[in-house]
Amino acid sequence: MTQETSLYKNVTRQFDKAADLMKLDPEIRKILSQTTNEIVVNFPVKMDDGQIEMFTGYRVQHNNALGPYEGGLRFHPAVNIDEVRALATWMTWKSAIINIPFGGAKGGIQFDPAKHSTRELERISRRFTFALGNNIGPEYDIPAPDVNTNAQIMAWIMDTYLSMMPPLERHRSHHVVTGKPIESGGSLGRDKATGQGVVYVIEQWARDQGFDLQGATYTVQGFGNVGSWAARLMKPHGARLIAVEDVTGAILNREGIDPGVLADYVKVKRGVAGYPGAAPLDRRAFLSTPADIFIPAAMENQITAETAPWLKVKLVAEGANGPTDPDGDAILIEKGIQLLPDILCNAGGVAVSYFEWLQNKRSEFWDLEEVDSKLYKKMVSAYEQVRDAAKAYNVDWRTAAYIVALNRLAKTYKERGIFP
Ligand code: NAD
Repeated sequence: MTQETSLYKNVTRQFDKAADLMKLDPEIRKILSQTTNEIVVNFPVKMDDGQIEMFTGYRVQHNNALGPYEGGLRFHPAVNIDEVRALATWMTWKSAIINIPFGGAKGGIQFDPAKHSTRELERISRRFTFALGNNIGPEYDIPAPDVNTNAQIMAWIMDTYLSMMPPLERHRSHHVVTGKPIESGGSLGRDKATGQGVVYVIEQWARDQGFDLQGATYTVQGFGNVGSWAARLMKPHGARLIAVEDVTGAILNREGIDPGVLADYVKVKRGVAGYPGAAPLDRRAFLSTPADIFIPAAMENQITAETAPWLKVKLVAEGANGPTDPDGDAILIEKGIQLLPDILCNAGGVAVSYFEWLQNKRSEFWDLEEVDSKLYKKMVSAYEQVRDAAKAYNVDWRTAAYIVALNRLAKTYKERGIFP
């Protein structure tokens, strides 16, 4: 891997910028600039045709000073240790910003799930859980859904984990994963939580800017869990979705694309390409589409030195993790494009993961109103802290978000000290 393609290098550049600016204690800086544990497992799985294939899975635990490790699992051919390390580190910052008692972790398996049957996916998920063994656990490290993983996969992971426990402990351990189906201990509102959080912070931004979302235009990259929910939840504000890109292609309709109808189409066709209510366009044209708000909600490194000059929007609201690299960031700042950074903007997912975890521990089941109102409070409070830090330190919002996170972590290290 070259330095240019290293996602962890992006994290390091962001971290160093904030740590320098806030004059972070050098000892705490040393601790936070490294991951704690990096687990790599190679495991065999029997395919439908009876052949055995080997898979490589990862779990990186960055930091647990604030609480148990928590973070998603990704199934994608590009998953590698560098990517997982970066994603795990962002989770530590995210939980600190949203102020929940979780640390940061991330994991994944390097393979293309689209090439496997549902039965193979189940065996791969279960065998990965078995290979991880006690490296995950309800009070230790709690996985959740991410790219190409969903509630069904979380249910298989939980079931496998519980099957490895002594019978008396099984019902005390449902919170080993979050993002589960409702019947298996999931929380109402978890499915839409990340997209909902994105829209809550966009609302706050619009209010602060005196910007009317009614009639505003927006574009979305990625129409999976995060992108499709963010798109659908923007609609009640009277905003108009005009362009969407996913792995199958990009589409445009300046009159507006109904996000609910598009979501139904994507469920059947597995992508936005060919959607009858819009015209196809290429990647450059998609990223160059003039709009008020762009919500990247797909993969990392989408807004770069090459593509950032193309953007013609007022606001980038990062639903995805790491969609903007540090060179892209610098160009957005220069162009005066405002940014709601990933570690603030998409923290709604981990917030509701925490709510699910709490409900499981207490054997409670909250109604959607309760989940949404608690999420709203978390997002607004995090937004205000980042906004105020940006003002106080006179910095861009990503750096301000880091400052909020690093201050919280630095305080806990100061209070607890380092053993022995
Ligand atoms: P998902 O698998 O549900 O959807 C991913 C979407 O991205 C799909 O529409 C896919 O077609 C599209 N995509 C993939 N590669 C692309 C490419 N090269 N160009 C354009 N589109 C592409 O995944 P998700 O859960 O919605 O996650 C999306 C992003 O949000 C990731 O960065 C993830 O880490 C982040 N995120 C997810 C959650 C969550 O709760 N699921 C929480 C926080 C952050």
